[in-house]
Amino acid sequence: MPERLHKEFGGALEQARALLEDLQRLGIEQLYTASEPLCFGDPESDQGPCRAETLEEIRADLGDCRRCTLSEVRTRIVFGDGHETPSLVLVGEAPGREEDRQGLPFVGEAGRLLERILFAMGLSRDRVYICNVQKCRPPRNRDPLPAEIAACEPFLRRQLRALRPRVIVSLGRFSAQALLGSAEPMSVLRGRWQSYAGIDLMPTYHPAYLLRNPSAKREVWEDMKQVMVRLRHDDA
Ligand code: SF4
Repeated sequence: MPERLHKEFGGALEQARALLEDLQRLGIEQLYTASEPLCFGDPESDQGPCRAETLEEIRADLGDCRRCTLSEVRTRIVFGDGHETPSLVLVGEAPGREEDRQGLPFVGEAGRLLERILFAMGLSRDRVYICNVQKCRPPRNRDPLPAEIAACEPFLRRQLRALRPRVIVSLGRFSAQALLGSAEPMSVLRGRWQSYAGIDLMPTYHPAYLLRNPSAKREVWEDMKQVMVRLRHDDA
C-alpha cells in the first residue's frame, strides 16, 4: 500500500476508535446500521427519511434485562405477543403467575376472558397485540414500584411507537395511570377517550377485575363498543 494511503487509513482507524470510545463512555452499547436512521421522536412530528424501530430490535435491546430488581424474582420476561401491525393494542399491568411461567401475556383465566371479549368484537388474539406496562412479574402480584416502572416504561413506549396502532386499550387502573401519567381513579378514567403519543387510548377494567366483579362486564362492553366504532370508522 502506498505510504500516503497507509497514513490516511491509519488516521481513519484512529478516528473510528476515538468515536467508539466516546460512545462507550456515554453508555451507548449498540449501533444501528440500517440504511435509514431510526426516529425516536413523536410519531406525529417525524420529519425526513427515518424509520421506526422494529419489535425485534426492541426485544434484542431488552435482552436478559436486569434494569430493575424484578429480574431477581421473575421466571421469564413477558415482552408481548400478537400481530406486528395491529390496529388495536391492549396493555395490561404486569405478568401474573401463569404469564411468568409461559413468557406470554394474558394466558391465565383473565386471558381467556379477554379472548372472549375480543371474539365478541369480531377480533382474535392474533389480530391484535397484547402486552403489559411491566415485563416481569412483581412478587405476590403487588403493584410495581416507581423505580421498576421507570426502568421498564421506556420499552413499552418504544413498543407502542413501533406498533403504531389506531387504538390502545389500557386494562385496569395501573395501566391507565402509568400510560397517562395520571393519579385519577378508574371511576374518572374509564370509558373516556384519552391520547397517548397521538394514539387514541380507551381505559377500561382489567379482565381479572371482571372475574371478581362480573357486573362490570356491561361497562367494559360499552367501552369496547366505542373502540369498535373507532376501528370500523377507519376501515370504512
Ligand atoms: S421489569 Fe422491565 S426493567 Fe425490570 S427487569 Fe423486567 S424487563 Fe427489565
